[in-house]
Amino acid sequence: MQTVTLNTGIDMPILGFGVYQIPPEETEQAVTDALAAGYRLLDTAAAYGNEKAVGRAIKNSGIPREELFVTTKLWVQDAPAQENTKRALDASLDKLGLDHLDLYLMHQPYGDVYAQWRGMKDAYREGRAKAIGVANFYADRLVDLIVNNDVTPAVNQIETHPFFQRTTDQELMRAHGVQIQSWGGFAEGRNHLFTHPLLSGIGEQHGKSVAQVVLRWLTQRGVVAIPKSVRAERMAENIDIFDFELTDAQMAAIATLDTGNSLFFDHHDPEIVAGLAKRRLTA
Ligand code: NAP
Repeated sequence: MQTVTLNTGIDMPILGFGVYQIPPEETEQAVTDALAAGYRLLDTAAAYGNEKAVGRAIKNSGIPREELFVTTKLWVQDAPAQENTKRALDASLDKLGLDHLDLYLMHQPYGDVYAQWRGMKDAYREGRAKAIGVANFYADRLVDLIVNNDVTPAVNQIETHPFFQRTTDQELMRAHGVQIQSWGGFAEGRNHLFTHPLLSGIGEQHGKSVAQVVLRWLTQRGVVAIPKSVRAERMAENIDIFDFELTDAQMAAIATLDTGNSLFFDHHDPEIVAGLAKRRLTA
């Protein structure tokens, strides 16, 4: 598996497995299948409610801990956030059955992010998270966090797919040493992604599926991808992208699909900000 080196010096697989929207009762099997298919980067979150099932699959796999790259995410918490960050990390580690994470992400750019970041820096310095980063930070919030802190996020996990390509954001992150990671790499199938004529045509030229073209396009751009699937055959398909290369002309053709806008929601929308910031995890 190809890797990228984070600003902490650790290597992260360029392709992993995401478990958002996998019900807890299906997650253990899905992660077991993903590990069997060869995935070593697992991406979960406290807010997904399936950390325990991820932990069981890790334990039962027998795969040495050092071969895995496990990410989870801190949900927006009540103040005082620095202490709550420690508690939230303790809870996540407990559910996952791990003594450290490879990457701990602040899930949303809301609430007392500076206190949350201080708590995350504590975790980093204590070795409980080998790297810390953020998710859903648009350029303004990301730069503000960077210039006002002594630890720069290692990763920013943001919506990135053919219809919202984030090339300017990627440039900015590169300039600051922040690794871009895509969520929703398939746009969860929106805009008929899996039957899109341009992507299908490119796939036919390589004997590959649309999903494989999209994941190849992301990783060829240096974007870490974490596709989700509950189907073993799709997991195998999605990891089989390292035996072909998109041409410059194909990369340029895919670039024309960018709309520059989210297909999900705008993190600047006041209703979204209020809704996400108010959500509290209960267990
Ligand atoms: P996604 O990976 O863009 O799309 C998942 C959808 O694609 C599922 O419906 C899946 O169906 C289908 N699919 C997967 N492989 C396929 C294939 N080869 N052919 C056809 N369909 C296929 O969506 P996502 O889960 O939203 O994003 C990926 C990961 O990013 C998440 O799991 C999560 O870890 C992370 N994420 C993070 C945030 C954040 O705020 N930080 C937000 C969203 C997601 P089946 O399962 O039925 O195969």
